Amino acid sequence: MERIATPSYTKKIIEQNSFYFKKNFGQNFLIDSNILENIIKSAQITKEDCVLEIGPGIGSLTQELAENAKKVIAIEIDKHLIPILKKTVGEYPNIDIRNQDILKTDIDALIEQENNGNSIKVVANLPYYITTPIVMDLLENHRKVKSITVMVQKEVAERMQAQCGKKEYGALSIAVQYYCEAEMNTIVPPSCFMPKPKVSSAVITLHLRKEPILQGINETLFFHVVKCAFGQRRKTLLNSLYNQGELGLSKEELIEIIQSVGLDEKVRGEKLSIEQFGQLTSEIEKRQV
Ligand code: SAM
Repeated sequence: MERIATPSYTKKIIEQNSFYFKKNFGQNFLIDSNILENIIKSAQITKEDCVLEIGPGIGSLTQELAENAKKVIAIEIDKHLIPILKKTVGEYPNIDIRNQDILKTDIDALIEQENNGNSIKVVANLPYYITTPIVMDLLENHRKVKSITVMVQKEVAERMQAQCGKKEYGALSIAVQYYCEAEMNTIVPPSCFMPKPKVSSAVITLHLRKEPILQGINETLFFHVVKCAFGQRRKTLLNSLYNQGELGLSKEELIEIIQSVGLDEKVRGEKLSIEQFGQLTSEIEKRQV
């Protein structure tokens, strides 16, 4: 079958169907087959895999996935792309195309129905505006997912991998590293897309850990503390926790807690490692009882 991810074929499909790109849906279609190969390799797709693809566009990645996986469920928000997808990849019996918003999709039910509740792989050239919400949803809600291989803005991939002390380090870095081992694969220049985005992208694979990096922690409180600490980066950890934390603790109690884990009361959230956030959470929880 003809490869979709070439500049000439993509242009032909767009013109024949009088399709116009919608910026608000982050529509930048991949036109480079080497990058597609790299995504399939990074995700280690095999004939055993059930894959959830977010935003198939005109089907370039969907086609590669269908040829390598057992099954592909492709969720596309833009109703104008559905008849196009039926033409470009409709002949593959293992592709299930759905016109839905991934942010409103019951992913647990989908995994239950489509893969008997067994873990799936998520693969996507993500529209930039939903990158953080969808990745956080998959991780924080413990969806049954083996790995997440996504094309994201290069800066976002750097934030996912950033270690404490770096300017890119934040709540997203902590959530990703708490649940996953992140592996950045390729940097992708704007010329690999139609239309060209303004910034470079990167393919990153998040391999879900069997167990999160911290054990026995109150996860809800941990992520509350983390989000609070990075909510206002210029403020000290103490002020962020006291003003926004709603932890039911006095400023003096918070100073004692911060010092008890070996930190200065003037420290900022960005200086704390995941382990230190864990210690802080445990101390806060003890005092709240
Ligand atoms: N996978 C295609 C490719 O690589 O060429 C298209 C990628 S394009 C960056 C993002 C795709 O996601 C578009 O087709 C867009 O319409 C779709 N999309 C945007 N928001 C979405 C959402 N909330 N749910 C599902 N699909 C969405």
